[in-house]
Amino acid sequence: MQKLQNYIDGKLVEPASKEYIDNYDPSKGEVYSLIPDSNEDDVNDAVRAAQKAFPEWSSTSKEKRSEVLLRISSLIEKNLDGLAKAESRDNGKPISLAKAVDIPRAATNFHFFATAILHYASESHSMGDLGFNYTLREPIGVAGCISPWNLPLYLFTWKIAPALAAGNCVVAKPSEVTPMTAYLLSEICIEAGLPAGVLNIVHGYGNKVGAAITSHPDIPLISFTGGTETGAEIAKVAAPMFKKLSLELGGKNPNIIFEDCDFDKMMDTTIKSSFSNQGEICLCGSRIFVEKGIYDKFKTEFAAKTKKLVVGDPTDSNTNLGAVVSQNHMNKILSYVKLAQEEGGTVLAGGEQVSLPGDYARGWYIEPTIIEGLAYDCRTNTEEIFGPVVTLIPFDDEEDLLMMANSTKYGLSATIWTENLSRAHRIAARLVVGIVWINCWLLRDLRTPFGGVKHSGVGREGGFEALHFFTEPKNICLKL
Ligand code: NDP
Repeated sequence: MQKLQNYIDGKLVEPASKEYIDNYDPSKGEVYSLIPDSNEDDVNDAVRAAQKAFPEWSSTSKEKRSEVLLRISSLIEKNLDGLAKAESRDNGKPISLAKAVDIPRAATNFHFFATAILHYASESHSMGDLGFNYTLREPIGVAGCISPWNLPLYLFTWKIAPALAAGNCVVAKPSEVTPMTAYLLSEICIEAGLPAGVLNIVHGYGNKVGAAITSHPDIPLISFTGGTETGAEIAKVAAPMFKKLSLELGGKNPNIIFEDCDFDKMMDTTIKSSFSNQGEICLCGSRIFVEKGIYDKFKTEFAAKTKKLVVGDPTDSNTNLGAVVSQNHMNKILSYVKLAQEEGGTVLAGGEQVSLPGDYARGWYIEPTIIEGLAYDCRTNTEEIFGPVVTLIPFDDEEDLLMMANSTKYGLSATIWTENLSRAHRIAARLVVGIVWINCWLLRDLRTPFGGVKHSGVGREGGFEALHFFTEPKNICLKL
């Protein structure tokens, strides 16, 4: 059985413990590889390697850093098929999705930041005859990057690429649930000639490896994407150490549909924003608010289309939804469907585990599920489920709608469907979220600030925001 290795100081190495964790293929519910069960010793080795590499990497010209990162990007593209297959097997998502979205985006992340750094300039502030200021934005040192399992290589590289482009060295931990493409990335980095110690990848559990990264005194900044509770744990440890923190956390995003929307366009996109990646995207619109005038029409068509979605073998190109990531996660999602019914909800579509035949019989599959009839403030409508489950909530008054849409502790993203642009802007301005899509979903320009408010996170990723995070500004004032 394949044993993954840590990537420390430019080499693929065994964990200090010599112990390994089972890695599951969710589509079959079986172990297919082994992951290093790393601990503090491995993190310490990785930090030492990163510290050793930092003086040279941070003073390497941005053009040279850019060249290495562009080589990594090209190698990801070259290995698209293999990486997509690996991502699908590790996570359960359809290969078609990994091939169209996850892996191309990982290549783009490196490409984007490899070129962004070439255009990254700092400010100067003139004081007229009195003097002037200029601001240096310098790499900070060893960055800790911790990422989740839902978009494994996509989100891992979204952190690593800007950190490295800005001249930092990195100690990174992918989710222990989906480590495979991060491991393959370490092989790619070796092939691309990334200098030893610049990027170190330590595999293992969050409470061992993640916690060791978060609490390490020589890691002054942490970029984390994952659940809100884990984010709070990390903040608790990092805040008294005065670490710089970027936290991208959970969501419970409203998808707001007005009567005057372009119905067909809205319907196609709403199917995607509800169930893509088995609903395991932090930006999925899990609470669907529908204006009363089209509620019945929407509900009938949406349910009919949802029932036609194919839940199946992730390697089959006809599959719309693959397996959810783990047995635990499947049970959590199903427990929310049960809770929704206890809270008075009616299941309009789905709601059950799916049993596939043959090799896939022990895989973890769930029907795409629609629930209506729940109060806007019940647990099902306020807690993150992070699976293929959406709720429908009718509305007929804008103030009511805004109150309900803003009523959860989360504030990541929102989608608005209307042909009335004045209304779209008015609503967008009053939604307490970090990202609003009008008449679209997940349309991304990587230059834009990405992140949430309230319990959805602190700080922004993307574009120069990410380069700001991974550098420290130093102002220098000169009196003339
Ligand atoms: P978790 O918070 O469980 O885990 C995220 C990462 O943190 C994993 O690598 C995990 O390791 C690690 N970790 C766990 N405990 C600790 C700890 N004490 N200290 C340091 N690291 C730790 O999230 P999930 O992997 O379950 O991902 C799903 C969540 O991520 C959802 O809430 C989703 O909304 C959110 N998310 C947010 C996004 C955003 O941009 N806002 C984007 C994508 C997802 P291990 O796997 O071993 O537990």
